[in-house]
Amino acid sequence: MRGHVPRKRFGQNFLVSAGVVAKIVEAIRPQANDTVVEIGPGLGALTEPLLARLDHLHVVEIDRDLIARLHQRFAPERLTIHEGDALQFDFSGLGSGLRVVGNLPYNISTPLLFHLAACAERVRDMHFMLQREVVERMVAPPGGSEYGRLSVMLQYRFELERLFLVPPGAFNPAPKVESAVVRMIPRPQETLAAIDEALLAEVVKSAFAQRRKMLRNTLRERLTEADWTALDIDPTRRAEELAVGDYVSIANRLVRLTSSSSRS
Ligand code: SAM
Repeated sequence: MRGHVPRKRFGQNFLVSAGVVAKIVEAIRPQANDTVVEIGPGLGALTEPLLARLDHLHVVEIDRDLIARLHQRFAPERLTIHEGDALQFDFSGLGSGLRVVGNLPYNISTPLLFHLAACAERVRDMHFMLQREVVERMVAPPGGSEYGRLSVMLQYRFELERLFLVPPGAFNPAPKVESAVVRMIPRPQETLAAIDEALLAEVVKSAFAQRRKMLRNTLRERLTEADWTALDIDPTRRAEELAVGDYVSIANRLVRLTSSSSRS
């Protein structure tokens, strides 16, 4: 750790397994002129091997002590250090075709994934290390208890693939839980387009707020029996039984109902 005391509040579990680092870099397959941004470079476990393959790398780091170390270790023309909170960082400002990578701080992983989903059109792909349980929720198909708001909202935007598991011993300090590496590739939006994405997010949130209840009840204020019939969705089903496309159909029907009622 070379004198750095890991900070729990910044989710600092540093990768110390050379084998796992090599596997992650291999999965990313960086090419020299790719535009890559690493979230939370820390002590540089991924930064260094990424820079060995890239002409240039962007990093976003919040911890001032680690930022000072990174400045000492890497030349500014090779590594651009964005100092601050990745949750506030404007990733779309780095251009298009962006590749985002990171061994993410687990305490902010869900809001960070939602923040990144908002600039998906600028992204080529993302590779992240996360808690295994979070990755399982991200990739979960409909029908099980792991399928929820995170699954629907991320699967709406991305093709997701769990690549491999990583044991606690690959980190220092070792976390209490297993980790996994996930690949996220933005979907072409024409395949599954919500007219109003904020409304899609609201519908999904309402449906999963009481996931054991029938949709007829959880979405009572938005949809009538006639709407369910028109949508060809059984309103006695529960939130976890609907596919991502069903949520998009519901949100799009609500947009059409609102625009036709405002015209009449
Ligand atoms: N990449 C390093 C590795 O694999 O060893 C460090 C990973 S550690 C799990 C998470 C890193 O994210 C730390 O360097 C931490 O300081 C940084 N971090 C935590 N919260 C952050 C935030 N909100 N914005 C940017 N970086 C953050």
